[in-house]
Amino acid sequence: AELQILSDKCVKCLQCINVCPCNAIKNDKNVVYIDNTCTLCGICIPKCSFSAISYNENFTKSKFNIDEYNGILIFGEQRDGKVSSVVYELLGEGNRLARQLGTKVSVVLLGNNTDKVVRELFAFGADDVFQIDHPLLECFNDELYTDIVVQVILQSKPEIFLVGATTYGRSLAARVASRLNTGLTADCTCLEIDAEKRLLKQTRPAFSGNLMATIICPNHRPQMCTVRSKVMNPIEPDFSKIGQIIKPNVTISPNLKIKKIDSIKNKVQRVNLADADIIVSAGRGIQKPQNLELIREFADCLGAAVGSSRALVDAGWIEYSHQIGQTGINVRPKIYFACGISGAIQHLAGMMSAKYIIAINKDPNAPIFKVANLGMVGEIEHIIPALIKEVKNKKA
Ligand code: FAD
Repeated sequence: AELQILSDKCVKCLQCINVCPCNAIKNDKNVVYIDNTCTLCGICIPKCSFSAISYNENFTKSKFNIDEYNGILIFGEQRDGKVSSVVYELLGEGNRLARQLGTKVSVVLLGNNTDKVVRELFAFGADDVFQIDHPLLECFNDELYTDIVVQVILQSKPEIFLVGATTYGRSLAARVASRLNTGLTADCTCLEIDAEKRLLKQTRPAFSGNLMATIICPNHRPQMCTVRSKVMNPIEPDFSKIGQIIKPNVTISPNLKIKKIDSIKNKVQRVNLADADIIVSAGRGIQKPQNLELIREFADCLGAAVGSSRALVDAGWIEYSHQIGQTGINVRPKIYFACGISGAIQHLAGMMSAKYIIAINKDPNAPIFKVANLGMVGEIEHIIPALIKEVKNKKA
């Protein structure tokens, strides 16, 4: 392990076994050792009265030659030939970071018949695209995608690998990081470069958004993070731009433990939440699940998508894909209606960058009014039908 027990100093007092929160220190037939469940928290080091525990610097240094790694790689998530909007945002951000590092931006694109997608990736800032086209890659498969992305990374050796914090991206990034024995910072909201050390400074909210933590990965490569959608900016596309298409030599194994049996499209959500210009979001203040119909009707009148607070998802009234906030998705619509939502910090984290926030709540002191551009104090059951009537009248 990267932490080691120094046998010449260890007196086998076994104090360390009790202090390890991960039960990673073992005593087997009077041999004390640290196994691979160690998370490198380092709690044991100062607790050892005999200075018998230390970081094994050689382990880290011998494993990676950091200088071999160069360039920024982005996971080109797409579904049915439509690139996820977060990829364009990552390309914009990747270009900004690449300029500081004096390097280039590549995309790894997995799918079937993705030639059209490649053109778009170049237009939005990719210098190279690693294109892997195969019928087995038609749909995302955690196992197969991980396997191929790992092969591409081992061949191309990027110093940074960026992935969108989508359902697929989160699953993929965790598996890839684990396979490559590198670090992963999830759900970043800000990325910066320490140009001198060529380190990626990865910032993400911690402790329910009360603290911003900046995390680095100094000893392993690639430096990996998932990035929330709607926090970075894409560049203006230039469809005359052409880059290099690379067809890497990878093994695509059909022997998979994970097999797709069926896919069911969400029929309720007519407008994609992440890309919506108007969002009508419902919270516990709608009182009963039947009132979601009222919210949907209002959203339909406006051509809006339906969002929700976590309270409704936890209550089982609406699917998780609608949840906005720290543990849901980030949105940046032009208009955001918060209907019966109190305005907890975890919800605000996902919708604060909306251009115009309209809050409807019966409590005039609800925290949501502090961030709202327009507030309506009253009962959802009265205000929403009145708004529906008004919008319908305007349209007629
Ligand atoms: P409540 O806080 O119960 O608020 C209901 C509001 O409705 C109140 O303000 C009330 O005055 C109003 N109201 C009641 N009746 C009416 C009526 N008839 N008409 C009008 N108004 C009415 N939450 C999220 O939303 N997204 C997240 O991603 C998220 N992640 C979290 C992660 C962590 C680690 C934790 C600890 C919490 C997270 N939460 C998240 C939960 C969050 O803290 C709040 O509990 C949640 O947002 C509350 O949802 P709400 O506003 O719908 O419900």
